[in-house]
Amino acid sequence: MGIRGQLTLLVPGVVAIALSVVAFVVVRQTNHDALEEFKELNLTALEALSATVATSVAQNDISGLDTVVALAAERLGARGLLELAVLDDDGRVMAHSSPERFNRVFSDDFSKAAIAADGAMWAREGGALRLGTPAKSGLRWATVTARFSLERLEAEYGAARRRAALGTLGLFLFIAGAVFFGLNRVVIRPVKTLEHSVRRMGEGHLTTRVPPMRVGRELRELGDIINGMAAALQAECDNLERTVDERTRELQEANARLERLAVTDGLTGLFNHRRFQESLQGELLRCERHKRPLAVLMFDVDYFKKVNDSMGHPAGDELLRRLAEVLSKELRQTDLIARYGGEEFAVLLPETTKAEALQVAERMREAVETRINEQGKWTQRITVSVGVATFPEDGKGAEVVLEAADQALYVAKRQGRNRVVGAKPA
Ligand code: GH3
Ligand code: MG
Ligand code: MG
Repeated sequence: MGIRGQLTLLVPGVVAIALSVVAFVVVRQTNHDALEEFKELNLTALEALSATVATSVAQNDISGLDTVVALAAERLGARGLLELAVLDDDGRVMAHSSPERFNRVFSDDFSKAAIAADGAMWAREGGALRLGTPAKSGLRWATVTARFSLERLEAEYGAARRRAALGTLGLFLFIAGAVFFGLNRVVIRPVKTLEHSVRRMGEGHLTTRVPPMRVGRELRELGDIINGMAAALQAECDNLERTVDERTRELQEANARLERLAVTDGLTGLFNHRRFQESLQGELLRCERHKRPLAVLMFDVDYFKKVNDSMGHPAGDELLRRLAEVLSKELRQTDLIARYGGEEFAVLLPETTKAEALQVAERMREAVETRINEQGKWTQRITVSVGVATFPEDGKGAEVVLEAADQALYVAKRQGRNRVVGAKPA
């Protein structure tokens, strides 16, 4: 059960118990006070009557005594008088509110006690209040007793109890409502707000913050602590995300470097044999689909071995790098050049016919012959032989086209090198 439910039970419960106790005590005290007041009032009246009664009895004025008693009975009738009697020491009735009782003897306990008592007496007998006072005028001449009905008083008690019950109920509703309203403002609502914010944070919304609490220092501090935790967590998450991004980028770069390395020739920086084969397969499929031509050029350096032999291996390497530069410069963006083997280069020319390919090959051969030799660095004249084959003219598969280019290269070598030879269509 939530706080609201528990308080809904607890607050009215406590208020109801407290008010019931207060109402019980108040009603009880009120009843007691009312009875006491009733008794005092009538006792005073009885004591006043006793003085007159004593005088009448002392003067043996029996008819005067009857008149006094009758008048008093009439006056006290309004207060619920049931019976008014003047008794002699034996309990014999000397005068009575009902004249037919004259001469009867009252021998009940209260009458006996009242006759024996020196002062006023009272007792409650069921729904009646009994009072007794001695009638003195110098001597004790008689005892006056009276019996009052408590019915009216009881009826007034009942009305007072109902008023108290209604008042208590009203007070209960007011206090319970006020306490609940106060608790709702001071405790329930702030706790609900805290719960809502923390739940959102738990769901991953780390930018959520507990709104400023205007009630209760502890709740305000709790809100601040939670906000601090959320901020720290968010900072940590941001940090983590940045680190992950950084690592991911580094990994992607490393992967890209690795991929490049896997398809790159370490000496010249051109693509390697493997990449050339992959590209050739891909390009052949594409050209086949679009019915477009494709040319392959195979370059081989003439008498390269002699360069190594006369100038050393490092010089041979440098020549290979220089050749890669010169050959690359002659190509379009869409063309692809690779180091195919030791001193062999292969070139892929998409969308190129045999005639166009022969022209490109010739331009490249010429570029090598002029540009490589212009500085006079090499002990021999550097030239290349080129074999040219095209798809679909010289074959449909990669191997066939390559073989055709290789054959043309072989022919170029045989015919004296430093030349371009096109494959003969089969
Ligand atoms: P041809 O005109 O018949 O092609 O004669 P060639 O000397 O060029 O042919 P051959 O196949 O006899 O020699 C190729 C030489 O290329 C042999 C080898 O030592 C050299 N070579 C292969 N790869 C490299 C390399 O990476 N660096 C260097 N410096 N030389 C290499
Ligand atoms: Mg060779
Ligand atoms: Mg060679």
